[in-house]
Amino acid sequence: MKITFLGTGPSQGIPIIGSRHPVCLSKNPKDKRLRSSILIEQNKIYLLIDCGPDFRYQMLRSNHNKLDAIFITHEHHDHIGGLDDIRSICLKMNKEIPVYGLRRTIKNIKERFFYIFLNNYKSIASKISFHELDNYKKICFMEHLKIIPLFIWHGILPILGFRIENFAYITDASDIPIQTIQQLKGLDILVLNVLRKFPKHTSRITILESLKMIQKISPKKAYLTHVGHILGFHEEIEKNFPKNIYLAYDGLIINV
Ligand SMILES: [Zn+2]
Repeated sequence: MKITFLGTGPSQGIPIIGSRHPVCLSKNPKDKRLRSSILIEQNKIYLLIDCGPDFRYQMLRSNHNKLDAIFITHEHHDHIGGLDDIRSICLKMNKEIPVYGLRRTIKNIKERFFYIFLNNYKSIASKISFHELDNYKKICFMEHLKIIPLFIWHGILPILGFRIENFAYITDASDIPIQTIQQLKGLDILVLNVLRKFPKHTSRITILESLKMIQKISPKKAYLTHVGHILGFHEEIEKNFPKNIYLAYDGLIINV
C-alpha cells in the first residue's frame, strides 16, 4: 500500500495569506503545506482521505487523475472544500465516486454543494454516491483492504479517523477515546495531527499531547500532519523528535 501526503497543513494552509511569520516566509519546500489530505494506492485502486480546497492543485501536482472512493473525516471546509472538483475525475473515469462519512457530514456536504444534486445540473456535475459510517463497527472492504472507521473527538465534535490494514490516519483529534486506542493496536504506521507546542487548544492536540498519544498507541512508526505554522521550521522540529516519529510534508510518499 502506497501513501502520498497530498497536503499536511492546517486549516489556513502554510504560508498563511499576508503572514510575516518566519515559517510562512521560509524558502524550504517542506515548510509549505497545503490543506491536509492523503491518497492511498493499492493494486491500482485509489482512495482519498479528505478533499480540501487544495484538492485540484494536489491532484495536478502529484499527477493523479483517478479515484475509487473518498473518505471524509468531518465537514469543516479544509476537509471537504474541494469536493466539487472531483467532477473532472468523474468525467474522465465515467463513473460515480462513492463518498464515505458520518450522516451529519453527508448532510452538510449535500447542503453546501446543493447545486450538484439539482436535476438540470446533474449531467455535468460531480457524480457522488453517499455511504454513511455512523456505525463505527461497520467495516468496509475495498480491493481486499479492510477499512475501519474510528471514533475521534475534535473538540465537542465526534469525527472519523480510519484504520486501513496496519495503517491509520487521524487528523484534527483533540482526544482519542480508549475504545479507539484499542482498535489501534499493532499498527505499522500511524498518522496523527499536531497543531503547535502551546498553548493548549480546545479542538486539537499540541505536540506533547501528540507524542503522548503515539506512545500510548505504540505504532512502529508515526508521522505528524495538519501541522500549524507556529510549531516551527520542519527541519528544526523533526530533529528533536524521538526515534521513529517524523513530521510529514507535502509530497512525502511512504509504503506500508
Ligand atoms: Zn476541523
